[in-house]
Amino acid sequence: MSISLFQIPLTKLQGVGPRKAGELHALGISSVGDLIEYYPFRYEDYRIRDLREVKDGERITIQGKIASMPSLQRFGGKSRLICRVMVDATLVTAVWFNRGFLKEQLALEREITLTGKWDQRRRQLTVADSEFPDRGGAKTGTLQPVYSVGGDMTQAAMRGLIEKALIQFGDYIPEILPTELTDKHGLMARKDAIAGIHRPENTRDGQEARRRMVYEELFLFQLKLQAYRAMHARKSDGLVHTVDNDEIRTFVGALPFELTGSQKQVINEILHDMKQPYVMNRLLQGDVGSGKTVVAAVALYATVRAGHQGALMVPTEILAEQHARSLGKMFESYGIQVGLLTGSVTERKRRDLIASLQMGLLDIVVGTHALIQEDVFFRSLGLVVTDEQHRFGVNQRSILRRKGMNPDVLTMTATPIPRTLAITVFGDMDVSTLRERPKGRKPIKTYSVKHELMDRVLGFIRKETSAGRQTFFICPLIEESEKLDVQNAIDLHIQLSQALPELTIGLLHGRMTATEKEETMAEFAAGKTHVLVSTTVIEVGVDVPNATLMIVMDADRFGLSQLHQLRGRVGRGEHQSYCILIADPKSENGQERMRAMTETDDGFEISRRDLEIRGPGEFFGTKQSGMPEFRLANLLNDFEVLEQARDDAAALTSSEAFWSSPGYGSLRDYLARESQHRDEPLD
Ligand code: ADP
Ligand code: MG
Repeated sequence: MSISLFQIPLTKLQGVGPRKAGELHALGISSVGDLIEYYPFRYEDYRIRDLREVKDGERITIQGKIASMPSLQRFGGKSRLICRVMVDATLVTAVWFNRGFLKEQLALEREITLTGKWDQRRRQLTVADSEFPDRGGAKTGTLQPVYSVGGDMTQAAMRGLIEKALIQFGDYIPEILPTELTDKHGLMARKDAIAGIHRPENTRDGQEARRRMVYEELFLFQLKLQAYRAMHARKSDGLVHTVDNDEIRTFVGALPFELTGSQKQVINEILHDMKQPYVMNRLLQGDVGSGKTVVAAVALYATVRAGHQGALMVPTEILAEQHARSLGKMFESYGIQVGLLTGSVTERKRRDLIASLQMGLLDIVVGTHALIQEDVFFRSLGLVVTDEQHRFGVNQRSILRRKGMNPDVLTMTATPIPRTLAITVFGDMDVSTLRERPKGRKPIKTYSVKHELMDRVLGFIRKETSAGRQTFFICPLIEESEKLDVQNAIDLHIQLSQALPELTIGLLHGRMTATEKEETMAEFAAGKTHVLVSTTVIEVGVDVPNATLMIVMDADRFGLSQLHQLRGRVGRGEHQSYCILIADPKSENGQERMRAMTETDDGFEISRRDLEIRGPGEFFGTKQSGMPEFRLANLLNDFEVLEQARDDAAALTSSEAFWSSPGYGSLRDYLARESQHRDEPLD
């Protein structure tokens, strides 16, 4: 193998000594390879524009002849240089700030190229950069890369260094993609593409260079996921669940409702995986209210019947309690024991529970992240289900996994993720989707109203209450301040109690003890409270089918997916449900979200719009998502490339040749290098 550019120290570059190398180091660049792959994050456009086509305020480059004597004004320590330039048939006023030294060079009739911001009304250009064609005009007509620089490193110096590195070492940039793929997609060679990213001669070259490198980035990313997956598949070291289909049928037949076609289908997919000797790693996505819990219940039932234990991990205590209660009820007559483990379980109960798990006396445990503490062990953990998975970090999931031998893993999410994003974030998973909601569900009617209409909102609450239904009233969200959230909830509870004295109004917030929360929820679920005033603690999962009215105060403070989740707390039974969003009409992008909410209640459409409004990074939250950061690829625009890359990587890793043929040695080396950086071992 030839020597890698990543092993060549920066000081091998002409003119780079220890000091320059140190400055580069500070930017995370420690080898010639790093420098060459330090991509620009945008380009400055120095291509000459036709003045008739530019818009006011644009940054443009124009070329013309000097048409007046320059005048220089000084004020304070600053100066302003003004001169007229004839550009085609337009007389333009060029203004430089603090460039007095240029005055001597502005000779009448001399050609000049000006780059800067255009003021249409005054026909004036505030010049950021100028060049004289008779002196070469190196930038004119080009796209100049803009790098992230800092410290003592200037933009110009960085451009110079990278240019130098490309001249000296550019020819040694190795190809990494197999020829069959570069041929298939008509991609340029790696060394040309990298050079093209740094100095796109013209837009088309630049685009082709970018296309190649984006593909490579996404392909290598997918290759890691797929290789990881292929290795698991080959190892066949998972639990083989012996599942008796008749037993499953009996269990399903005893449910109080008939499963939807979608539910039956995903249950089949899951049970199929569980019977196989490889480890199941499946994502179940389904919109709020699509009935994921019962799917999880069937899978948990199957693992227990096969002689193992199941764990269900959820993001909030309220949800853990709800699931423990409903699963407990569902499994009661089968003699299956369900336990609850959260942060607020007393130490004694906790010790008992852990002992029962270890001895195998407990079949199923439902809990929050308290489940993944170090001292929790199982006798034989067969299945791990995580609900509303996007709230868990990748590491937390893998810790829980390691508690069993190699338990099957089912991950459920109610934030339906556009398929391509699912591929990206969960590329190592199989995906099952619940496409239909249970029969008889009516779409939730959603309205967005101003605060002034509060009286009518109260009237609505009275109406639903007298029809026997219940209401959620969600308080404004104060970012970063749980204390203010709580205060808001308390205030709103007082106001509503005064405005609706004839109704019973409950209160729920994060500062209440676990027991208080549980009691409040139980009372609401039992229909004893008419209205539940709550902070967003009930955002996910809460299931009270008799509740038909969801009111969100200051809805413009909430994100789109969050609003959809909140709305999903109603419309879970056969009654017509409503969602009222009280929002400030002056909040412009708040209104954009209200529009999305009133226009659709399809979770896939909502998350698509959310993604559009917020971008993928924020959409998933940063830390918890396991969302990869790409250097060039943009998930919104490069969807199709991502899908292509995934298919290519999957085909390659499932071929025998990939693992043995010397032709793929460099890709295997790449995988070996990358696996050293993973936080969990490859097996
Ligand atoms: P989510 O997918 O949001 O977690 P749940 O599993 O909480 O949804 O289900 C929502 C409600 O629908 C629950 O009350 C549940 O009992 C009910 N449900 C689930 N499946 C069906 C079905 N096939 N027919 C009727 N009701 C169902
Ligand atoms: Mg749920």
